Amino acid sequence: MATPIAFIGLGNMGGPMAANLVKAGHQVRGFDLSAEILKAAEENGVTAASSLAEAVEGADVVVTMLPKGEHVLAVWRELVKAVPASTLLIDCSTIDVDSARQAHELAAGKGCASLDAPVSGGTGGAAAGTLTFMAGGSGDVFERAKPYLEAMGRKIVHCGGNGAGQAAKICNNMILGISMIGVCEAFVLGEALGLSHQALFDVASTSSGQCWSLNTYCPVPGPVPTSPANNEYRPGFAAALMLKDLKLAQDAALSTGAATPLGAEAAQIYGLFEKQGQGARDFSAIIEMLRGGLQA
Ligand code: NAD
Repeated sequence: MATPIAFIGLGNMGGPMAANLVKAGHQVRGFDLSAEILKAAEENGVTAASSLAEAVEGADVVVTMLPKGEHVLAVWRELVKAVPASTLLIDCSTIDVDSARQAHELAAGKGCASLDAPVSGGTGGAAAGTLTFMAGGSGDVFERAKPYLEAMGRKIVHCGGNGAGQAAKICNNMILGISMIGVCEAFVLGEALGLSHQALFDVASTSSGQCWSLNTYCPVPGPVPTSPANNEYRPGFAAALMLKDLKLAQDAALSTGAATPLGAEAAQIYGLFEKQGQGARDFSAIIEMLRGGLQA
């Protein structure tokens, strides 16, 4: 059934996600601060709105896909003033758990149902409609949101109550950041020992060292032809975004008292990589910095 949906934030991820809602037959009205991005969304069947208030007028569902917690809270403060209590609010951005919970409180203050539903799968997954959604909110709200998430993704997981989607996202990405550094260190050590990349890959990818960073996203050219290493480390998933997620994990570790020593080290290493001006490259390019040692 066609539903009027407002989509706020139509960038690298939001643009293709909104396009998939249009393809699923929904009436999507979009708003973005960038006129250029709004124009590109129009080409994909999204109706451009000239303000947030115009975008959400008459919408049954509002989806936000914005850079950080501060942006989400600023937008949600505005939108709860503009929508009726019957509107379902879904935030798909990757943000800190505290901001996600504050956003739920803003929605509850207006009587609106809300879900935090960050994604994994990158821009490729957003375009192909194969994202994984990790959702936080009540079971009823999850069931109500599911058909819309299914129009944009392949796997939709209910992780628990408010903020649980963001919690799952930052824990997953902390594993990813640590495992990528581990795989890169193994290749650097293998090189020093005279081991070929292919030999290490053939052994580790079918042994106890296997993981996504090695088997699917191998950080050296050759063994996995689709990995960014074969494309001059163009992202993929930019190192700056990995750093952002590792910092979110560290903020959460600090506020909960959880011990995450390797997560802290991974954040330091990606911080150094960004300081060297490498933030726009794929996060697997960290292998080049590790080869050169860790000089600041
Ligand atoms: P992006 O910078 O391409 O898009 C964000 C958009 O939000 C921009 O177009 C910007 O103009 C718009 N915006 C900012 N403030 C706004 C406001 N007040 N009103 C309307 N529009 C506003 O970023 P992205 O890559 O699409 O990422 C969005 C979120 O998804 C981030 O939280 C990111 O961490 C997460 N994410 C990104 C990827 C990825 O591979 N790019 C993967 C998973 C999750």
